[in-house]
Amino acid sequence: MGHLFVLSAPSGTGKTTVAEKLVSEVHNVKKVITATTRQKREGEVEGVDYIFMTKEEFEEGIKRGIFLEYALVYGNYYGTPKEQVEKILKQGKDALLVIDVQGAKSIREKLPESILIFLLPPSLEELKRRLITRGYRDKNLLEREQKVKMEIACARHFDYIVVNDFLDKAVEAIKNIINAHRHTRITFFRNIENLVKDANIKEIMLKG
Ligand code: 5GP
Repeated sequence: MGHLFVLSAPSGTGKTTVAEKLVSEVHNVKKVITATTRQKREGEVEGVDYIFMTKEEFEEGIKRGIFLEYALVYGNYYGTPKEQVEKILKQGKDALLVIDVQGAKSIREKLPESILIFLLPPSLEELKRRLITRGYRDKNLLEREQKVKMEIACARHFDYIVVNDFLDKAVEAIKNIINAHRHTRITFFRNIENLVKDANIKEIMLKG
């Protein structure tokens, strides 16, 4: 079984870019495809960026209990389908789940062994600039800024906090976190049959 890494950040912090780099550069890390009821944006692909659902389909899914967690974000549903996570973990790969802060908290409650990583923007000014670049203005901008502050206040509940001041540096830090979790004692003994070929070493370790 692989690990479940949850990556959260206030919007505009660059978590999508960080996640894309991690998935393409780290062997055996797969991104969990989550579901949403929001409109597909230009260039987005069904089953790659999201599983796009109607509100009715999503609510039916909630009733059937198909989501590990779900949230209403700015009027749209977003949710993590259980089977998307299980599929990756059962292959022995690590799953990277990129969701909002409230989603991360729910995942921690359901799956305490998940590893929560918070990506922090270098400054509020820089984040505001990025939000303005994305087209947020006036009331919408103010609303986003308020949410960002609430989200940053939740960082203390995460296992790791990484500042995204330089993309490559942030990606490197998360790669190190992933790598460290691949070498914990628990992970090692779970996979000892595959990792240790020498029968003598294996016997000594298992007796110890
Ligand atoms: P966007 O609409 O910009 O793709 O995503 C909006 C927010 O929803 C982002 O913070 C994104 O990480 C979050 N999100 C995406 N999928 C899920 C999910 O399955 N659950 C939760 N709680 N948040 C999600």
